[in-house]
Amino acid sequence: MKKILVAGGGGFIGGWLVKELLSQGNQVSVIDIKPVSEWSQIFPEALNSSQDLSKLENCIEATMNIDEVYNLAADMGGMGFIENNKAACMLSVLINTHLLMASKENGVSKFFFASSACVYNGDKQSFTDIAPLSEADAYPAMPEDGYGWEKLFSERMCRHFYEDYGLETRVARYHNVYGPSGTWDGGREKAPAALCRKVANAKHSDVKTIEIWGDGEQTRSFTFIDDCVKGTIMLMESDIREPLNIGSSEMVSINGLVDIIQGIAGVALKRNYDLSAPKGVRGRNSDNTKILKMLNWEPKITLKEGLRKTYDWIDQQVKIS
Ligand code: NAD
Repeated sequence: MKKILVAGGGGFIGGWLVKELLSQGNQVSVIDIKPVSEWSQIFPEALNSSQDLSKLENCIEATMNIDEVYNLAADMGGMGFIENNKAACMLSVLINTHLLMASKENGVSKFFFASSACVYNGDKQSFTDIAPLSEADAYPAMPEDGYGWEKLFSERMCRHFYEDYGLETRVARYHNVYGPSGTWDGGREKAPAALCRKVANAKHSDVKTIEIWGDGEQTRSFTFIDDCVKGTIMLMESDIREPLNIGSSEMVSINGLVDIIQGIAGVALKRNYDLSAPKGVRGRNSDNTKILKMLNWEPKITLKEGLRKTYDWIDQQVKIS
């Protein structure tokens, strides 16, 4: 039985990760800045507490007698949030830096950092029919302003904590993770959850129109939460010390994503395109050559399958809200 800390475990990915780590028989400490009552999932068998992990003293206490740290804590959201809160996104550097320092001090054996496809060079994502991004495409560096720069810097800090101090670090570059229990309203939600909510709202009202950010032709790949959690634990247990894509390679346009959600909901809606809304890069997909080679695995859950589970959950939230 390992003693594991999940930082940011009150959030979306953290919540599902805690569930899986507990089911594997580990002792799990979960810390998040939000009050425990607001966590996306609460597991009474874990050690749950609300603390600000941007403070070094809290990180020192949190990592005492801990074998492994998963850092999922960050002040983040979808494009609407990260384009308008660059300083807040960059301040997440304090969380990862202090967790690394505390892990070194307390002799933690392994440290995981949740990075993002937002580290990739913007020039390589400027059209819709884009080549998938492989790990080398992060350099020369021109990541997403604010959020992406913090991720790229923190990735490098992980690397240097291994090189200089021998702390074993693992870094995943997540590509758009979605699923039940993810943020679905309030301004931090990402495209799949926002579109599921808009379709569900339209389905239950007389307004048969939805608003889409951009022209809908921008492309992405979306990773279902079960694949994300599985890949994260496999990476942590591996000896891969360089950043690794954890992302689906099933590329879809935003219009294509809406088609799938409408099909699941059984509605046909008129689309209004807001060309002035935040839209992010023009095209993005995950190149899975490296993960296939190193882990003999890649995310497998299809968009249709993942979106059905996600839509059903968001539809329920819309009905009870
Ligand atoms: P989330 O917002 O649901 O979870 C992050 C959690 O961190 C939140 O619960 C938040 O309260 C907590 N947190 C923020 N500041 C904190 C602090 N100072 N101390 C303690 N906790 C703090 O987001 P998520 O989707 O679960 O993402 C988890 C990680 O994965 C983040 O680092 C994120 O940047 C990264 N990531 C997510 C995606 C995605 O598509 N969801 C894609 C790429 C990278």
